[in-house]
Amino acid sequence: MSSARVVLDLEALQHNLGICRDLAGDASVFGVVKANAYGHGLLTVARALRGARPGVEGLAVANLDEAIRLRQSGDEGLVLLLAGVHNAEELVAAQRHQLALVVHSAFQVDLLLQHQALAPFKLWLKVDSGMHRLGLSPAEVPVQLARLRANGVVSRPPGLLTHLASADELEGAETVEQLACFDAVPKAGFGDCSAANSAGIMAWPASHYQWVRPGIMLYGVSPFSGEIGAQRGLRPVMQFSAPVIAIRQLAWGDRIGYGGAGRCERPTRVAVVAAGYGDGYPRHASQATPVLIGGRRSPLLGRVSMDFITVDITDDPGVAVGDEAILWGGELPVEEIARGAETIAYELLTRVTSRVRVEYRGDPDG
Ligand SMILES: *Cc1c(COP(=O)(O)O)cnc(C)c1O
Repeated sequence: MSSARVVLDLEALQHNLGICRDLAGDASVFGVVKANAYGHGLLTVARALRGARPGVEGLAVANLDEAIRLRQSGDEGLVLLLAGVHNAEELVAAQRHQLALVVHSAFQVDLLLQHQALAPFKLWLKVDSGMHRLGLSPAEVPVQLARLRANGVVSRPPGLLTHLASADELEGAETVEQLACFDAVPKAGFGDCSAANSAGIMAWPASHYQWVRPGIMLYGVSPFSGEIGAQRGLRPVMQFSAPVIAIRQLAWGDRIGYGGAGRCERPTRVAVVAAGYGDGYPRHASQATPVLIGGRRSPLLGRVSMDFITVDITDDPGVAVGDEAILWGGELPVEEIARGAETIAYELLTRVTSRVRVEYRGDPDG
């Protein structure tokens, strides 16, 4: 364990789910908890999303391991595998755990037909409406649906879903085109439809259909560049912090850290904070990225190293050894730190490493 820690606010998580519901009207919710719930802890987040009032109708994960961990924790609700299964072994395990499967390729349909004995399957067919990553082409959809139905491997109409590539771009035509493509797929033989990720939920009401799939917004982060979650009423769930462990007085012209990359342009007081890229702080954070100590912002100075960052506190004389430095969360939006590191908040949240202590605030069951 390092002395860095993340504090995860489950009340904020449940509040954010409420914002999602306000936007999505009557749509049911798949809470997306892939990648260890975007770095927030799969099992606790899953429990808090189920335990919210009202709780999510389903959870969605990227792979089988995540789904099995949910089942082993006692979660018996609807769990959707967003990429489906990739081979026979996975199909057998998924069926044993009663998972709902995305079917995005003829290969996966073949696999299901080869394992008819395991039927019925709970399926969502995925159509590629323009993202061109996973999905059946619109023309293939009725063909593959007919194969599934003819062989009786589905007991009730499968769902139909698609994924939006550019829903965070409010001006472009891509989302309008994708939704038009999705709407043009004949719905006969299908049950519910689903298209919206967080950006779809927040900006594209026409993408809501019967099921929405929020991820990043549940964690309090805005999917739109140049914006923070608070502007949409979201509350950050994660706060990432570490203690100040040393304070140094350096002279004009001194250089600090690896490569001497930080240069003191004046007599400079520096706080050494016990977190670095080994904890998940981005190594490429630009100098001047803010760190919050005692409620005040001070800029990074010098390179981020594995275990430490160095912060220019010359203008904040009150800082003392033992103070907690907030790296993101609370009054310091992770979106802002992501911009300083030329990445997106999704990446920062999912990259906090396992040596960081995790604490939860709030009751997952209510
Ligand atoms: C990750 C994912 C989502 C959630 O996306 P956010 O932008 O985090 O809301 C929804 N649907 C699918 C298929 C995904 O892979």
